[in-house]
Amino acid sequence: MIPWRGVIEEYRKFLPVSDSTPIVSLQEGNTPLVQAKRLAQRICPGIDLYLKIEGANPTGSFKDRGMTLAVSKTLEKKARAVMCASTGNTSAAAAAYGAKAGIPVYVLIPAGNIALGKLTQAIMHGAKVIQIEGNFDQALNIVKELCRDDEFELVNSINPFRLEGQKTAAMEVCDQLGKAPTVHVLPVGNAGNITAYWKGYQEYYAAGQVRSVPKMMGFQAEGAAPIVRGHVIEHPTTVASAIRIGNPASWQLAMNAVQESDGLINMVTDDEILEAYRMVAREEGIFCEPASAASVAGVMKLQAANQLLDGATVVCTLTGHGLKDPDTAMNISAQPLTVRATREEVAAVLSL
Ligand SMILES: *Cc1c(COP(=O)(O)O)cnc(C)c1O
Repeated sequence: MIPWRGVIEEYRKFLPVSDSTPIVSLQEGNTPLVQAKRLAQRICPGIDLYLKIEGANPTGSFKDRGMTLAVSKTLEKKARAVMCASTGNTSAAAAAYGAKAGIPVYVLIPAGNIALGKLTQAIMHGAKVIQIEGNFDQALNIVKELCRDDEFELVNSINPFRLEGQKTAAMEVCDQLGKAPTVHVLPVGNAGNITAYWKGYQEYYAAGQVRSVPKMMGFQAEGAAPIVRGHVIEHPTTVASAIRIGNPASWQLAMNAVQESDGLINMVTDDEILEAYRMVAREEGIFCEPASAASVAGVMKLQAANQLLDGATVVCTLTGHGLKDPDTAMNISAQPLTVRATREEVAAVLSL
């Protein structure tokens, strides 16, 4: 078997690279697509449910798929550094791929508002981390202004190479299933990923690799649902920090994806997100981050509204790894029991 070479080499003919592009890869992609039978039985019996485990990427989120291409193109055009605003995972990926490429990385994050694991990653990989006293949307505006200078390459998802790289996830799903799913469900923050998947499905269809395309269904958090509400949210709030975004960069592109695929964008509450988060961990053995669980919460909502056809193949993207944000997990969990170190005391608390 030929070892996996990372998404650029594996999907090269669909990507804007040439022989002279220096490829910066951590062998991202090839993430598991797990059939979720126990979860399906509980939340959507009759549906063939799959989870695309993007937390299995090298830095623990799907951002790696876009970052491999964005950083490779940065080297190709000889920019000197990369910069991004981030709710966390973009900075973790930029820091890692920047380190691999040997170029400086600058990240702007909202002060006190990013999950500990993600901040740790950016710092460990040697990025210059600057906290701003503001939210993600403000950070992005500042980064956009600074990146007008050609020395700095902006690697947020408004960088078109990010979405090009991320579209490979849709192609992988098709390769793993042997067909396109009926419905693909994703959490929506800046709305880049849902846009990227739709592009990937369409290009695979056009290339004759699959005979259909799925309906794209995106879910925002209720306190951060600008697309659903139809206006910018000045102060977005949700436990799911990766989708705490009030003015999505790819708003219009996501609307197009939803319209063209006959899908929808809706919202789920934080309680629904946390319920799905816990259920995925307990029923399927997969620990994702809270934002990721918005997709599964979305499936529960679709099922309750009778919007899933019996026998449909539904794929949920679990966008990031649960260990990035252990605080949220512990906040909703009971502390472990403590007993004396005797067989009797341990036996007394066991129950089957
Ligand atoms: C970035 C991110 C999202 C949101 O993706 P968008 O492309 O901004 O819509 C969701 N979940 C996780 C874990 C992320 O890192």
